[in-house]
This record gives sequence, C-alpha cells and structure tokens, in this order.
Amino acid sequence: MGEVSKFFTIQKCDNKSHRVLCKECARETLHSIVSSYLESGSDDCGGGNTIDWHCDNQIIQCLGCETVSFRTISTCSEDTEYDHYGPCHPETIKYYPGRAEGLRSIESYLLPFTIQQIYKETILSIENEQYVLAGIGIRAIIETICKDLEADGRNLYQKIDSLVGKSIVTPEGARFLHKLRVLGNEAAHEVKAHNSMQLELAMQIIEHMLDGTYVIPARVKSVF
Ligand SMILES: [Zn+2]
Repeated sequence: MGEVSKFFTIQKCDNKSHRVLCKECARETLHSIVSSYLESGSDDCGGGNTIDWHCDNQIIQCLGCETVSFRTISTCSEDTEYDHYGPCHPETIKYYPGRAEGLRSIESYLLPFTIQQIYKETILSIENEQYVLAGIGIRAIIETICKDLEADGRNLYQKIDSLVGKSIVTPEGARFLHKLRVLGNEAAHEVKAHNSMQLELAMQIIEHMLDGTYVIPARVKSVF
C-alpha cells in the first residue's frame, strides 16, 4: 500500500437555504448548513495510480421545526458515470438519522404497545435502507395486528381472510394484505430485499389499516 494524504477544513454557515427532506416535518423543507467539515484525500495505489475522495460532513438545521441533523455528501474517483459532458463522479448523500420520502408518521402512541414497537422498528429499517429486515417487519406487523384482533386460522393466510368475516377489513383490503404477506415471506425465507418504493407503499397500506382500526377510533373516543 502506498502513501495516503488527507486534508480537513472546517467551514461555517454558507448563508444559503437548501431543500432537504425533514424527518420531523415529514416533507421537504428549507434547511441551513450550520457548519461543514470537509475531508479530502488521496490514496496512492502504486504504479502512478491514485484514488481521490472527498466528503462534506454537514450539520444541517430545518428552518421550519429547527431540528438539527447530519448529512454527508461524498464522491470517489473510483465511482465514475458518464453524462453529455463526459465522465463525472456521482455524489453519495446520506442522512443521520436516516429518512425516507414516502413515509408519513401516524399517531403511533395510540397503537397497542406490541404493534407500536414493531411499527417503529420497521420504519427505522426503511429509513436506514435495511430492506430485508423491513420486509420481515411488515409481515410481523400484520401478524401482530391479527393476534391483537383475535383473527381465526392456523396460518397468516387464513387469519387475514378471517378479518374480512369480522368486517375489520374489506375483501379489497385483504387482497392488499395478502400481497404484503407474500412480500414478507420472500424477505424472511429468500432474503429478498424489496425496493424502497415497494416498502413505502406497503407501509402506506398498513398505516391506512392502523388509522382505521386504532388511531381514528381512539381519537373519536377522546374527542366526543
Ligand atoms: Zn422540519
């Protein structure tokens, strides 16, 4: 291994606003970059070849809710793409805590504790790109809901169908839940990772059910 050179620079606020997805506001909002710590370096691979990299570590703040979070924007000379201007190095952007565009948060404190627990962990898995675990989590949420609602049957297939008989879900709703059951089985038994769009849509179906079954009835009870 050859020589490694590394440089660090600290920068203050750039006095601009940037559109970033805010986890608290659950949508894109304007953010300021409070401070930024730039790292760049070059690794000598021998034979006159080097790998150059650059990482901008930023403390960012939502200008709406004032939540502070962290973002890294990095590039590496090994990652090369081509556009009409020639070769370029795509930026890899990561957020801490992680976030996902298609997720909205429901009032999860109104859910039974066991459902709340697995619901929150599944959201965290999607936000942090743990897509196999998210698929397993989605199946576990449906199983926990079935248990809580005392669904009948020996397996999840029969339990989902029994919810139609109890008028808890519509036949159409049960069809969606069966799709999510299959998605969960593929994650659990074949270690299949679904993409973020599929998982976010799956969570929307689950949230719709949680809203109708737990959140809205609990709110109606407290308001009227
Ligand atoms: Zn915000």
